[in-house]
Amino acid sequence: MKYIRPTLLVITLLSIAVISSCDKNSDLLLFSIDDDVALGMQVAAEIESNPDQFPILDRTKHAEAYAVLDGMLDDILSSGVITYRDEFAWELHIIHDQALNAFTAPGGYIYVYTGLIYFLDREDDLAGVMSHEIAHSDRRHVSKALQRQYRISVLKDALNGGQSEIIRKVTGSLVGAGALKFSRDAEIEADEFSVEYLSDTDYACNGGASFFAKLIKNQETFNPEFLSIHPGPDNRVGNINMKATDMRCNTTAFDADGTGMDALQALLP
Ligand SMILES: [Zn+2]
Repeated sequence: MKYIRPTLLVITLLSIAVISSCDKNSDLLLFSIDDDVALGMQVAAEIESNPDQFPILDRTKHAEAYAVLDGMLDDILSSGVITYRDEFAWELHIIHDQALNAFTAPGGYIYVYTGLIYFLDREDDLAGVMSHEIAHSDRRHVSKALQRQYRISVLKDALNGGQSEIIRKVTGSLVGAGALKFSRDAEIEADEFSVEYLSDTDYACNGGASFFAKLIKNQETFNPEFLSIHPGPDNRVGNINMKATDMRCNTTAFDADGTGMDALQALLP
C-alpha cells in the first residue's frame, strides 16, 4: 500500500443508504436497456473528454495493467449470471487518482481508481469490488438512482442530444462527495451478486467481504461516518459471508499471499 487519502474515501461501495419516500417506486424503471447503453456511451465520452477530473490511464502505455484487470473482468463476466452480458459494453478504465474509489456508469462502464488498487491486498479483494460495481450496472441500480434524481423526460432529452449539460451533470453525479446514493437494498443486492459472479471463478467468492474487513481494520484512518452507515461494513462482511455459505462456493483466496496484487500495483504509476 503506497498511500491512503482518507478524506477521499468516496467509494461507491459505501454509498450512504437513503430510503427515500419514492423508493417504493424505484423499481418502476422507465429507462429501456437501449437507454442504458446510450446513456453509458455518452457518459463515457464525457469522462474521456475531461482528463483533469478523470485522468484515465492510457491503454497502450499501461497495457500490462489493463491486461490484468481486463482478464479479471472477463472471468467475472463469464460467470453466466450477468443478465446483460451481450447488450452492455463492459469497458473497464483505470483512473490515475489516489482516491479510494470505483464507480460505474449505466451500460457496463466500470471505473477503478489507482488509489483503490493500491489499498487492496489481494486480487480476490479487487475482484470483489469489481463484481460489486458490475452488479450496480447489470442490476440497473445506476439507472434507477438516476431516475430518482432526474426527471425521466430530462434524461431522455439528453439521450437525444438535446442537453449536453445534463450529461455533464449525470457524469458528475456518479462520482465524488455529492454522488448519487444507491438504496440500501441495491447495496445489499450488489454485495450478494458479487458472491454469485465470483462463485464460478478462481477468486474467493467472498472477496467483497475481505475488502470491508480491511476497512474495519483501518477504521481509525477513515471518516467515521462510513463506519456507521447501514448496511455498515461489519454487517456487509456478515451478509457476504452468509451468502457464500449458502452458496457453498469457494472462499479460498486465489491470491492468498498477495503476490498477484503486488505485481499489479508495480505496473501502475
Ligand atoms: Zn455499491
